Amino acid sequence: MSVMIKNVGIVGAGQMGCGIAHVCSLAGYKVTLYDLSKERIEASLATINGNMARQVTNGKMGDDERKTALSYITGSTDVQDLASMDLVIEAATEDENVKRKIFGQICPVLKPEALLATNTSSLSITRLAAATDRPEQFMGIHFMNPVPVMKLVELVRGIATGEKTFETAKDFVRSLDKTITVAEDFPAFIVNRILLPMINEAIYTLYEGVGSVEAIDTAMKLGANHPMGPLQLADFIGLDTCLSIMQVLHDGLADSKYRPCPLLVKYVEAGWLGRKSGRGFYDYRGEVPVPTR
Ligand code: NAD
Repeated sequence: MSVMIKNVGIVGAGQMGCGIAHVCSLAGYKVTLYDLSKERIEASLATINGNMARQVTNGKMGDDERKTALSYITGSTDVQDLASMDLVIEAATEDENVKRKIFGQICPVLKPEALLATNTSSLSITRLAAATDRPEQFMGIHFMNPVPVMKLVELVRGIATGEKTFETAKDFVRSLDKTITVAEDFPAFIVNRILLPMINEAIYTLYEGVGSVEAIDTAMKLGANHPMGPLQLADFIGLDTCLSIMQVLHDGLADSKYRPCPLLVKYVEAGWLGRKSGRGFYDYRGEVPVPTR
């Protein structure tokens, strides 16, 4: 038995929120995309439009489909707009305090039967669920970046997640034409438990002078057949998100092998967060990305 989902709310209109809104609207869901400022919402709607327009150009969707999907997305800066949602997916900054605060704000507004999910990359689903008024109706629905392209969604239940919630999440993810993998509620789940230590090791390799940015990325692309180099991928994920995930692994598993590389910390301290801020291991402000080391 699962619950009927028609209206999907998304909290956080960053890289992931935009991608989730994109695929939900294409699958016919009515989407309310919430963030803190009107400027952010406007920029996000423009990004979604741009990404869909690219898919039209590449022959992946028709222009009518793009127009219909866009008409299904409404931007909002008012939490009250989430009152009629059947499912809300939290996709805000990877910071437990930010997420707890959001749940505190939105829970009183949501319908009692509404399901609540988080797109967290690493945080404990059980602990986040405990910060809501509905742990049985709460779980992790972890999309991959970029959402319109990546086939996988990890589903993660907290200790209190109900069977109906899990079944509904499965049906919902399948309706988006994504493939499900189920992970237990351990720090960073499956994908990031494996991927982030590899990225962190690539940053140590740079930090220790074993290779340059270009050498490391070329080595892993051509030597391990990865479609993207690890430093390029780190920039793509966002270096703040990478650091946050390493900190969750380090704190949660208490093993020094997860120690975040000091160079990653330094980049984040500088505000060099990767593609989204224009600079990370590469500088994206010119025509072509230029390595920063
Ligand atoms: P991002 O920095 O691009 O976007 C975060 C958004 O959250 C911003 O628009 C910000 O304004 C908004 N926000 C912050 N506080 C808020 C609040 N109180 N209320 C509403 N909105 C708020 O980050 P992202 O890469 O989109 O990541 C979002 C989430 O998705 C994180 O939990 C991250 O771990 C997870 N995730 C990221 C990736 C990735 O590759 N970047 C992949 C899978 C999952």
